[in-house]
Amino acid sequence: MKYKKLYIPGPVEVSKDILEEMSHWMVGHRSSDYKELHSAVIPKLKKLLFTENYHVFLGTHSSTGWMEAAVKNCVHKKVLSCVCGAFSKRWNEIAAACGLENDKYEVPWGHGYDPVEIDKRLASGEYDAVTVVHNETSTGVMNKLEEIAEVVKKYPDVSLLVDAVSSMTGVKIEVEKLDVDVILAGVQKAFALPPGLAVVAVSPKAMQKSEAAKNKGYYFDFKVFEKYAAKDNTPTTPVISLIFALNKMLDKMFAEGLDKRFARHLEMAERVRGWGEEHFELYAQPGFRSNTLTTIKNTKGISVADLNKKLGEEGLAISNGYGKIKEETFRIAHMGDFIMDDIEQILSAIDKILGF
Ligand SMILES: *Cc1c(COP(=O)(O)O)cnc(C)c1O
Repeated sequence: MKYKKLYIPGPVEVSKDILEEMSHWMVGHRSSDYKELHSAVIPKLKKLLFTENYHVFLGTHSSTGWMEAAVKNCVHKKVLSCVCGAFSKRWNEIAAACGLENDKYEVPWGHGYDPVEIDKRLASGEYDAVTVVHNETSTGVMNKLEEIAEVVKKYPDVSLLVDAVSSMTGVKIEVEKLDVDVILAGVQKAFALPPGLAVVAVSPKAMQKSEAAKNKGYYFDFKVFEKYAAKDNTPTTPVISLIFALNKMLDKMFAEGLDKRFARHLEMAERVRGWGEEHFELYAQPGFRSNTLTTIKNTKGISVADLNKKLGEEGLAISNGYGKIKEETFRIAHMGDFIMDDIEQILSAIDKILGF
């Protein structure tokens, strides 16, 4: 197997010091050593997410686990799933698979949600939860979370459930100010850690809802997590090696400075968007373009597979399109630890291969 530097939207490139941190000696998950680690990590995550009063839980599973948890704990009546691509569609499939009443509000791929349309649907009073994706990793659309949150605030009985899997740590998300109820991410995207750990922030209101939830199961029960959180612990054995790595990564984030981190992501996004517009077209509507990845329309009909093969020979990898736009698009991620030099490296490698 040959090393490839990953410009795919997850898992992303992981730095050597983080990989090394994962080789920390093992500690028992009920030991005081683990408590020390857990109680170091949680306040840092709260700081990252701009919250003091929410619970932040660590889940040993990928991001999808917390998506399932969110609907199991917070949907008692019916959920409105806002769909703008493959991942937001998945949330609707999860709700259906959990046997929950659900409806879809769908926009064409490449578009973002219209908060007015969400408002109209919530006004019916049918729903007690709404699922949205912040950053739709299939289309490269970043939705306007603040505007959506403003709308949902008008309906105190409706829980706002947010998939921020590929945006969390790459853009500023002020969780408590937004008043979201559940917001989640896996660490293999903008956190730039290996996969296997997922983070969720849960509002006090959502915790109350969880209390009354039926058939929420055990593994994803927020109330069980709350009980163990009080002891700086997790209900079951967590992926301790990754939590060591997360602790180190959070220190690195604060050492860089969060505002600088967000600005770095925006700068890289602008560079890739400019390149994409120069040679191809961008898939996402103007005003909805993601800061952490760019989905590019394959207007030149290049073979993305061939391009990736040639990039692979240079130890680089980008991503083809996702789901139904697999052949029509390709994706370049600009998240995690990448700096502008990394972006220049991939763009000039593509330029050379395609003869730009
Ligand atoms: C990657 C991704 C997921 C799924 O994440 P897993 O960690 O594989 O479960 C869900 N939503 C979005 C927006 C994603 O980018």
